[in-house]
Amino acid sequence: MGAGHAGLTASRFLTESSIDHVVLERGEVANSWRRERWDSLRLLTPNWLSRLPGHRYDGPDPDGYLTMGEVVEFIERFATVARAPVRTGTTVLSVRPAGDGYHVTTSRGEIRCRAVVIASGACNQPTVPPFSTAVPASVEQTTPFDYRDPTRLADGGVLVVGASATGVQLAAELSRSGRPVTLSVGEHVRLPRLYRGRDVLWWMDASGVWDERHEEVDDLTRARRLPSPQLVGTPEHATLDLNALTAMGVELVGRWAALRDGRALFSGGLRNMFSLADLKMARLLDTFDEWARAHGGEFDSPERFPATRVPESTRLQLDLRSGEIRTIVWATGFRPDYRWLDVPVVDAKGQLRHVGGVVDGPGLYALGLPLLRRRKSTFIHGIEDDARDVIDHLARNL
Ligand SMILES: Cc1cc2nc3c(=O)[nH]c(=O)nc-3n(C[C@H](O)[C@H](O)[C@H](O)COP(=O)(O)OP(=O)(O)OC[C@H]3O[C@@H](n4cnc5c(N)ncnc54)[C@H](O)[C@@H]3O)c2cc1C
Repeated sequence: MGAGHAGLTASRFLTESSIDHVVLERGEVANSWRRERWDSLRLLTPNWLSRLPGHRYDGPDPDGYLTMGEVVEFIERFATVARAPVRTGTTVLSVRPAGDGYHVTTSRGEIRCRAVVIASGACNQPTVPPFSTAVPASVEQTTPFDYRDPTRLADGGVLVVGASATGVQLAAELSRSGRPVTLSVGEHVRLPRLYRGRDVLWWMDASGVWDERHEEVDDLTRARRLPSPQLVGTPEHATLDLNALTAMGVELVGRWAALRDGRALFSGGLRNMFSLADLKMARLLDTFDEWARAHGGEFDSPERFPATRVPESTRLQLDLRSGEIRTIVWATGFRPDYRWLDVPVVDAKGQLRHVGGVVDGPGLYALGLPLLRRRKSTFIHGIEDDARDVIDHLARNL
């Protein structure tokens, strides 16, 4: 299920194992990148990391970052190289157990199969807090699924909620468009774009941090909920942390905790939250330095970055009826959608119960979920190892 890079990689390995299969896709190949992303988005992973089995970026700018159009082309080419039997425009409406396999109802008919690989994505819907329904009607609300570019927003102030990759990128873009931007910051992951002369993701890759396996992680549930890093892919290789946003004039406030009588109430304690993110970043950079000492190589000297600046005074509330804020952008994360799955394998939080992609139902598998088998599981370059393991299991099971 799903013709994103995960489903297509599964298809490639199924073909290699001579297993008859079909890839069902409700839209087109790379549908999420075509329909659910904003216009200016580029990958935050450098081009040299765009690698899938038997297909990798081979253009003139390995250190650059693909635009959405380029990502779509890259994945489309992979579908061709992998000779994936994709049926586009075919929505899976239900999957239910039948005999020693599954009965799949699609918008184009019924299918019987022995196994199902769920590669329908981890980010099918934006997550928005329930209190959003009580936001005064005078304030427009949008999510990264609907947002395309700043010109489509009402003139005036914007409150961006969430300071992970999406939130910091949209806050920067909206601030550059001339709007006053307030950013509500919760737990976040700070990273510099470049470290010791290399892309910080080069260090993640080389040092093996991304290869850490699900069995080795102490608190897997928590690790699977880790927010995406504050990174942006730009030709300038710019760092986009909170200090960069403050320098642009973005106002930082705490986590949006509640909404009362039309007032957004923010948590205090920014200082602690910033120190925690600074500390975690420093620990990760220590890991990279240790790796560099052990392995040698030509690198710039170790660097440490200035602490995240705490604003002199932070607002703890904002009256949404005052007209100061015209739009709220919810950059509060994404979640999968399993409403079509008629198998009791989804927990109370809406997450699939699985161990390393082997779902708690015979012949049912998953790919592309956070830390499915490794820290790199949701990234394009992370799918190859996971898909090989999962399809091996599936083949043995059949
Ligand atoms: C904003 C954003 C930025 C990201 N940036 C990067 C990055 O820089 N680098 C990186 O490596 N990763 C990045 N990712 C993470 C990841 O690579 C993407 O989320 C990627 O799209 C996941 O691929 P996938 O194949 O698992 O899922 P998807 O690409 O979402 O593919 C799932 C497919 O399943 C289809 N589908 C869903 N439900 C049904 C159904 N019921 N019936 C039929 N078909 C269905 C969908 O239409 C879709 O085509 C980013 C993610 C987001 C959200």
